[in-house]
Amino acid sequence: MVNMTHTRETTAGQQEMLAVRYRRRYRLCQVLTILGVIFLFALGSFSLIDGAQVLGCILILNALVGLANLYLLKRTGNVERAATILSGILFFLSMSLIITGGKSNTGILWVYPIVAINLFINRFWPAVCWFGLFNVASILLLFTPLSVLLMTSYSIVEAVRFILTMLALNSICLAALRSEEQAYQTIMQLHADDIRQMAYYDTLTGLPNRWSFKTNLERLLARAKKDKQRIGLLYIDLDNFKQVNDQYGHEAGDRLLFKFSERLWEAIRPTDQLLKPQTESLARLAGDEFVVLLPNIKEPLDTSTVATRILNIFDGGFEVDGVTHMIYASIGISVYPDDATDPAKLLHHADAAMYDAKHNGRNCFRFFTQKIADTLHQRQQIEKGLRQALREEHFSLVYMPIFDCKNNTIVAVEVLLRCQSPELEGLGPDQFIPIAESTGIIKDIDLWVIDNALRALVILRKEHLFEGKICINISGVELLNERFPSHVKNLLEQHKVPPQNVELEVTETAFVADDVTCLETLNALNELGVSLALDDFGTGYTAFNQLIHYPADCLKIDRSFVNDLFSEREARNKMVMIIQNLAKLYDLRVIAEGVETEAQMAYLRENGCDWAQGYYLSRPLPWNDLLKRLSA
Ligand code: C2E
Ligand code: CA
Ligand code: CA
Repeated sequence: MVNMTHTRETTAGQQEMLAVRYRRRYRLCQVLTILGVIFLFALGSFSLIDGAQVLGCILILNALVGLANLYLLKRTGNVERAATILSGILFFLSMSLIITGGKSNTGILWVYPIVAINLFINRFWPAVCWFGLFNVASILLLFTPLSVLLMTSYSIVEAVRFILTMLALNSICLAALRSEEQAYQTIMQLHADDIRQMAYYDTLTGLPNRWSFKTNLERLLARAKKDKQRIGLLYIDLDNFKQVNDQYGHEAGDRLLFKFSERLWEAIRPTDQLLKPQTESLARLAGDEFVVLLPNIKEPLDTSTVATRILNIFDGGFEVDGVTHMIYASIGISVYPDDATDPAKLLHHADAAMYDAKHNGRNCFRFFTQKIADTLHQRQQIEKGLRQALREEHFSLVYMPIFDCKNNTIVAVEVLLRCQSPELEGLGPDQFIPIAESTGIIKDIDLWVIDNALRALVILRKEHLFEGKICINISGVELLNERFPSHVKNLLEQHKVPPQNVELEVTETAFVADDVTCLETLNALNELGVSLALDDFGTGYTAFNQLIHYPADCLKIDRSFVNDLFSEREARNKMVMIIQNLAKLYDLRVIAEGVETEAQMAYLRENGCDWAQGYYLSRPLPWNDLLKRLSA
């Protein structure tokens, strides 16, 4: 995309050059013709008054043709034709001056400046033609029997002098034109180089960009295949780079990237004969992502020397403009042909290894392994299954009743997603939702769930006189999705359900403190009239004083705390009580999740918990079982 724009811009630059050149020639044609017309009329009139009838008529005639040329040029803007006509006039005029001899035989002197004018308006090759034609014609007139056409006579010395001067003048003119033409070609070439530079190189660091990296990689792999060589690919991603950008501004971020690219270059420079990096060994793929190619390595492990040198760049912080930034690198390594033989796969595998490095505490390097390959494959399968599930309606919902602790009645139902795709066999939402989130499919899934949950609610209300809430899990991704509230609004209107009977559950860990978009989304949802629950409460990092800023209605105590109610560990067995007290303080409803024993239920009831759910009370139920349970 970026490259495309650059190319387009520079082509525009070249067009601009052509336009400047056109305007210059247009002006010259115009000015020279106007001057010529004025002089020809003046001299023509004088000649007529002076009695030189033939010369006078010729000059006036040329002036008239010049006027016509001016008119044509103005109307059509065709500079090429105007130049040709002007050259024609100049040619005809010169010939006439030779033939008539001009006033008192001075005609031949006028021919020199007239011929030189051709320099200004012509390009090299048309000028060669005109000058050649003129010289041939004058030689024929001066030295052959055609001289009978001459109205005046020239001595042989005069004629030879004229022709020699003419040849010298023409050579000078042509040399000047030639050099101008070459200068122009050079500038055009420089423009073309600029395009190349911008299309293939990253403007910030001067390194090859993603596009040229791909070409380099393909070429290198083809060569490696022929020579039976190994190639190492290092995929580098900076850690904490975003913070530098956020805290010190994009310019500081840019300088950091530039400096890093220099240090990177030093780090891979051949200190040993083993590795011989060339310019194409380095590239910046995007933002803070770089790649290094190590051609002709003996063992995959050889790459680790370079990887270590790159990590060492960040030892003791990375200094830019006197500020030391705590940034690091995560590096993924894949090796040709061991890990992949296809360029795209090789890059993809190094990328996957880089993610593995990130998950393993960052600031380290990881090789692509079979385990990473398996995870990658499984993720791809799940992604495929999820897309198929959306297309072919392989999703379904189960319903988990939520009970009022005081009187054991069902006050709400949480809908939970299930997927019957063959690729997802045996996988629960815990496994496939994170993948749906990382690929963006979650947005469609969430809407599918809300749509079907609201449809269920309509039936429950109408046919089973259910007055409670339907609780719908939504992904944390939606908090950054500005269009989500309006989607929910549309679905609420479409199903005509009272919003106060709908509760949206968002896991607490999805909350980003002080994030504007996040808070705006929550407020927009709140304004729709639906209630909001903080799911898995206690596992996130919500500072207690932040609770007041969230338009939340309910805290769902994470089931691990209910599970630990009677555990020996004090820090955990008090959590249920702490959350309950907190909820009381902020006037929030509390739901305890994962109630599995009678003892847990008794504790919650005695300690004033509002609602509860869990296997002890009811498992998640298919639709028909829910209906039976409700009517029981
Ligand atoms: P969650 O929102 O905390 O849902 C409760 C999970 O705990 C459900 O697992 C439920 O079956 C399980 N559970 C409930 N009571 C008990 C109990 O007493 N003991 C035990 N051991 N487990 C219990 P499930 O259905 O596998 O859902 C897992 C997570 O997947 C959910 O956690 C939720 O975060 C996500 N999820 C489920 N359905 C959806 C959905 O429709 N959309 C989105 N975005 N996420 C969903
Ligand atoms: Ca939930
Ligand atoms: Ca939960």
